[in-house]
This record gives sequence, structure tokens and C-alpha cells, in this order.
Amino acid sequence: MPTEFDLIRLFFTRPAPGAVLGVGDDAALLCPTTGMELAVTTDMLLLGRHFLADVDPRLLGHKTLAVNLSDLAAMGATPRWATLALALPEVDETWLTGFSRGFLELAARFGVDLVGGDTTRGPLNLCVTLLGEIPSGLALRRDGARAGDEIWVSGQLGGAALGLHHLRAAVPLTRGEAMACRARLHSPEPRVDLGLALRGLARGAIDVSDGFAADLGHILERSGVGAEVAFSRLPAHPAVQARLDDALARQCLLAGGDDYELCFTAPTGVGREVEAAASRVGVRVTRVGRITSEPGLRILDEDGRAMHLESLGYDHFA
Ligand code: ADP
Ligand code: MG
Repeated sequence: MPTEFDLIRLFFTRPAPGAVLGVGDDAALLCPTTGMELAVTTDMLLLGRHFLADVDPRLLGHKTLAVNLSDLAAMGATPRWATLALALPEVDETWLTGFSRGFLELAARFGVDLVGGDTTRGPLNLCVTLLGEIPSGLALRRDGARAGDEIWVSGQLGGAALGLHHLRAAVPLTRGEAMACRARLHSPEPRVDLGLALRGLARGAIDVSDGFAADLGHILERSGVGAEVAFSRLPAHPAVQARLDDALARQCLLAGGDDYELCFTAPTGVGREVEAAASRVGVRVTRVGRITSEPGLRILDEDGRAMHLESLGYDHFA
């Protein structure tokens, strides 16, 4: 039977070239780059609430880090160091092999060193703290939006939520759609490179983890502004787009979580630069609306009339 220390050594001890000292001592030692601010974020994933027991451990390892990377992406930070706190009900080496592989592969892709953590017995619970760096004053903050800014969204929205509804058998999808939506749900791609490319261009930013309307709402609240968004411009995932006459699909688009795209605002004059920056990193961005001085979020139909958020299923998730 492997001890806690065997597990840490086998599955979570890797070289940490970006740290002074990594796993193995009472604390890790890190040396931040001169002139940079540290960005620190923590996200916890609980069995039953954030993932189901039968999920592929490798995908779960990926997602556990990806949701934290997404938070740093939304700040425009370069990810550097992570710690991982794990509660495990039992020692399942097959599960640990998959989980650590998914986690460490994504970490390696973004140059993140796993520098420490904690391992204990208990109901399955995964908690990552991720640290990144941003040149002083350049962070993309939720309170940075200004009236007149354009509102942009990366990638496509609603696919992950539709995938979850499909898993719960609430919606039939074609085989291809089901695979695409499940990939969005289980294997999100954090928009780290886009966040970096938007430094100095975007003003307000957030990652879409709880649903577009709610997350844009956080920017509006923190910035003391409002917004007008054209419903027809929202970049729906193709499986969502194909069912937009369905209330559930509209709800996925506006209120579905887990997409991990970026929603950000930028001054009108830099639209071309925003598009160029996004295309350099291979991510599609769509202009969906405008920040207003009048508070509140208004979703507009094709004729420019405000739609009722309730009729779009928004209240279910608010
Ligand atoms: P302590 O008793 O000082 O808390 P631990 O025995 O918990 O130390 O951990 C030993 C070392 O292993 C520490 O450097 C800790 O950061 C690291 N560690 C523990 N669990 C993990 C994990 N899941 N992933 C990465 N490092 C870990
Ligand atoms: Mg400990």
C-alpha cells in the first residue's frame, strides 16, 4: 500500500524549473519577476457539484487546472506556479495516473510548475491555487469597462451547458453534436494566449464560467455601467444555434456555464487591433454589443427591442 509520500513522489513531484524550490519541503520558494504583479486565484472542484463520479480522470485533471488557467487568462496574466490540494476517498493508482497526467500535461503546455499541495483522505475534492504574473498596472479587471466600449466574446457559447443537459438526458443531440458538446464540457481550452494578447487593448474582462449574462453582469456591476447586447450576434455553439427556437438552447446560450471563453470590453477605436491580436493566437472573437452609462443589461432582438430575460430562460440560473 503506497503511503501519502509515495503518492506525492510518484504522481505529483516533477522538476520545477521556474521555482527556486518545488515539491518536497515545508513550503515552495518562488521568485517573482521584477516589475510584475502577482495574480493569485483558487478554484475548488467537488464531486457531485462540479463533476460526476464516472468522468474520465485524465479529463478531470485537465479541467481542474483549466478552470484556474481561465481565471488568470481573464486577468491577462502569465500563469507560473500551481499548488494542488487533494482529498481522496481511497488510493486508486489508475485514477491517480489519469488525473495527474491530465493535470501535468496542461501545466506543461502553459509552462506552469506544480510546486506544492496537500494530500489527504476524504470525500473527493480537488483544489488548485494558481499564481501568475502581469506587468504592473496592466491587469484586465472587472472594473475596467467604460461607457462607449464595445463588448467582445471569444469562441462559442452554450456548448458546455448543452452537453450537460444531454448527459442528463434532457435534450437529444446527434452523435457529432454530443461529442462536440461533451468536449466543451469536459475539456475546456483556457484562453490564456488571448488574455495575454489583450493586455493594453481590453479594459474590462471576465471569463464565462457561470453564463454569459451573469458574467457580463459582474463587469457591469464592478464598472458601474450597463450594456446593450444584440441577441443575434452572440456566438452560439453550432449545436445551440441549430435549436435557438428551443427555450433550453437559448438558456444555454445566455445562462449556461462552463464555457470558459473570455468576455471583454475595449474602446471603439481598437476593434481592428483586437481582431488582429485574436487572430494571431488563433481564437475567434465576436463583437456583441456596447457598454452604456445607463445601468442594467439589455438583450436586444433584431428590431433593437429589449427582450425579456425571463423569456430567454435567464431567471432559472440567476
Ligand atoms: P506538510 O506536512 O509540511 O504539510 P506534506 O507532507 O503535506 O507536508 O507534503 C510534503 C510535500 O509534498 C510538500 O512540499 C507539499 O507541498 C507537497 N505536496 C503534498 N501533496 C501534494 C500534491 N497533491 N501535489 C503537489 N505537491 C504536494
Ligand atoms: Mg501537508
